[in-house]
Amino acid sequence: MKILGAFGSKTQNSQLSSYLLDEKSVIDAGNLIQSLGNDFLKLENVVLTHAHFDHIVDLPTAIDTFYSRMEKPLHVFATQEVIDILKENIFNNKIWPDFSKIPLMNKSANAIIFHSLEYFQEYTIGNFRLQPYPNFHTFGSCGFVINNAMVFTSDTFLCYHTWDFLNKNKSLKQLVIEVSFPSAFNRLAVLSKHLTPILLQDELKALQRDDIQIYINHIKYEYIDAIIDELKTIGLYERVIILDDNVEVEIG
Ligand SMILES: [Zn+2]
Ligand SMILES: [Zn+2]
Repeated sequence: MKILGAFGSKTQNSQLSSYLLDEKSVIDAGNLIQSLGNDFLKLENVVLTHAHFDHIVDLPTAIDTFYSRMEKPLHVFATQEVIDILKENIFNNKIWPDFSKIPLMNKSANAIIFHSLEYFQEYTIGNFRLQPYPNFHTFGSCGFVINNAMVFTSDTFLCYHTWDFLNKNKSLKQLVIEVSFPSAFNRLAVLSKHLTPILLQDELKALQRDDIQIYINHIKYEYIDAIIDELKTIGLYERVIILDDNVEVEIG
């Protein structure tokens, strides 16, 4: 998995959520254009965890940028709730054209084909097996179990499913989980349904294993130093790897 964007805010030094599984498939569309360039044309599947702007922003713009060179449609996978939000609020012919109704140049297929995902079903998407599960971040949001090896929470807030999966299925060896704000921002974190170092520490009490590699993502970049300091103070820093843009993580 190549991380095209590891962060919860866009700055000169941080890109928004995008996790390239292989050249055909990506989770979230926060940073597809600048990171992929013409390799965007190799993409076939975009899997969305939820409809928040930082996870979808490059989807409408990339389709527009590459439209005339696209040889095949882009398959967009998300829960039905998320698809409805995108159709109603982005691809509505007001904010942006409805590319799910616009055929590719000289082709019969439309530029985007939406596919709805059901929680807890397992899907083969490209070369990967993905099982979406509900988290407690926002309407229709989900995390994924990837290839029965990694739990990828996306923006999650408190979520017992994460710990259930990891406690019950010993094949799972990796966890990618968000920490967005320092604990001093607890009220904002709770209101916006995100984790802080202390909320993560509380959540980890439910984990009954010590053989899980834990990766942290979606840090709001303005607070990265404060979050790292805090992780050190509470003794979590040694236990986790903080993900960065352009880093690769082998799944499994
Ligand atoms: Zn986010
Ligand atoms: Zn979000």
